[in-house]
Amino acid sequence: MLALAGYPLGLEFLFLDPSPDACAAALGQHLCADYSDPGALARLCASAQVVTFEFENVPLAVAERVAARLPLHPGPLALRTGQDRLAEKKLFQRLKIPVPPFRPVDRREALDAALEAIGLPALLKTRRLGYDGKGQAVLHQREDLDQAWQAVRGQPSILERKVIFERELSCLAVRAGDGAVRYYQVVENTHRGGILRRSLPRADDPLQRRAEEYTGRVLEALSYVGVLAFEFFVVDGELLGNEIAPRVHNSGHWSIEGAETSQFENHLRAITGLPLGNTATRSVCAMFNCIDEAPPLAALAALAGVHPHLYGKLPKPGRKLGHITVTAADPAELEQRLTNLKAVAPELFP
Ligand code: AMP
Repeated sequence: MLALAGYPLGLEFLFLDPSPDACAAALGQHLCADYSDPGALARLCASAQVVTFEFENVPLAVAERVAARLPLHPGPLALRTGQDRLAEKKLFQRLKIPVPPFRPVDRREALDAALEAIGLPALLKTRRLGYDGKGQAVLHQREDLDQAWQAVRGQPSILERKVIFERELSCLAVRAGDGAVRYYQVVENTHRGGILRRSLPRADDPLQRRAEEYTGRVLEALSYVGVLAFEFFVVDGELLGNEIAPRVHNSGHWSIEGAETSQFENHLRAITGLPLGNTATRSVCAMFNCIDEAPPLAALAALAGVHPHLYGKLPKPGRKLGHITVTAADPAELEQRLTNLKAVAPELFP
């Protein structure tokens, strides 16, 4: 999606992706190699003028190696922070951004004391390599401790209070090299099984300003360049910071049709030193992920205001195979269009 946004700007792309069926391969040169493959990295650095990533589990050492030779945006500091839940939480605390109560847990013995401090229910989350609800275990009672520790396979983790939230929000922002920042409308997200199902950009949300303030602090602290997403829980009408994604984010996919400048184009503008584009919305919209299966394209294509994006990925349980954005002129029209979509693809609706 970055490349699709970049070609109209005259940019060219080279992708380093270890997967032989990487869906970006159709859009440019594909270096099919491990992220730390020295030959592939040498080719990447010889060909590119600027490097970015859209997956935060790229090894930090690789990012540092690339950053020593070429502009890498966002930089290694942002990547290091986004890779580690504990580093994220500590950054939020340092920036006076409220978070759910948590404790680091490096050993099984530390888990009992952490539970004492945090209380039940709680979530044990691995510090690293967790996404879409992977690397997490819920604790409802003391007896769940051993099972939870096994579920995270004894990896360094954090124990976090499971909060009862009214809503989940994300704030997408883009920061340029000169420090200019623009924010998109905050997005209300619905997850199922830890996986994002639906995103609704919110006009005039009462928490827009506060979300921008917190996100701005993070961007500044990380000297960030590019698009960043900050995910929050809303508890008692206030924001609690959950995690950041140092990249373009699934909850911003609606911006392709729904905003003046998509998150993808704005990320490219930021990392190539172009002026940032307008982040204002063009229409009211809703975005749905296609998980496990995608609705029949012909049925989607027959619906007004329905924009399918299919990624050409092979189905696997829990895999995002595409997304669908529904746009409309006003909330009433959106409601009607969502009803039409639900009639042909009820499984999309959380
Ligand atoms: P995460 O990978 O941390 O974004 O977690 C995935 C999803 O699990 C979140 O979007 C929430 O729906 C849920 N979740 C994670 N942490 C908490 C928490 N502390 N309290 C309640 N729900 C949570």
